[in-house]
Amino acid sequence: TQRTLVLVKPDGVRRGLTGEVLRRIEAKGYTLVACELKQATRDMLAQHYAEHEGKPFYEPLVEFMLSGPVTAAVFEGERVIEGFRALAGATDPTVALPGTIRGDLGRDWGLKVQQNIVHGSDSEESSAREIAIWFPGLA
Ligand code: ATP
Repeated sequence: TQRTLVLVKPDGVRRGLTGEVLRRIEAKGYTLVACELKQATRDMLAQHYAEHEGKPFYEPLVEFMLSGPVTAAVFEGERVIEGFRALAGATDPTVALPGTIRGDLGRDWGLKVQQNIVHGSDSEESSAREIAIWFPGLA
């Protein structure tokens, strides 16, 4: 069985969507293993978004992720990494399909960063790395 790291990003927390996001993941049948409201630090985000360093949206992305608290959660279940990414929908909320979190709830105001409500790990390797960043005490 897999684990994945989910973040409700600052836009989602500000808009009061934490409960709605967690509800959808639980309703799908995944198990909540850890959950905490956290203020990210630059150091955590440098590790979390290491693969994007140097891209044009990297600095705006880090500033956005520092703009308020995030809800960090770990979910467990069969193929939960792929399953959560299906629930989340495409990165760009404008084209994310209705029925997905980003398709139903996301906005795109032409900002420098896609403020797309959620993050989910994209592989077992990144989920292990990301869980260690956000929940260092979790076994
Ligand atoms: P996440 O990793 O947050 O689940 P993702 O895997 O769909 O999203 P990534 O390619 O990992 O997207 O990019 C990380 C985040 O950076 C995106 O969620 C989005 O907020 C932002 N982002 C990615 N690509 C762009 C882009 N071309 N323009 C603006 N923002 C972007």
